[in-house]
Amino acid sequence: MRLPTLRDFRGDKIDMVCHRCDRYGSYDREELVKKLGATTEFVELRRIMAIGCDRRGTDQCEAKFPCLLAANILIEASK
Ligand SMILES: [Zn+2]
Repeated sequence: MRLPTLRDFRGDKIDMVCHRCDRYGSYDREELVKKLGATTEFVELRRIMAIGCDRRGTDQCEAKFPCLLAANILIEASK
């Protein structure tokens, strides 16, 4: 299964929240595409963006992208 990339999302802004770590960020999609490339997977993006999270890289960190949920794009294979 192919994982969704920046190319798969059409909105201007990509927002990320982590309720566990109490973080919120909004990012310009164009900027991210320029910086990281359009083929960057969202799972990878989440890892990059969760850098400020206190619990990043652990199961305790729940960084996610509400804009993708709204667009019905699942960034990981469903369990
Ligand atoms: Zn987090």
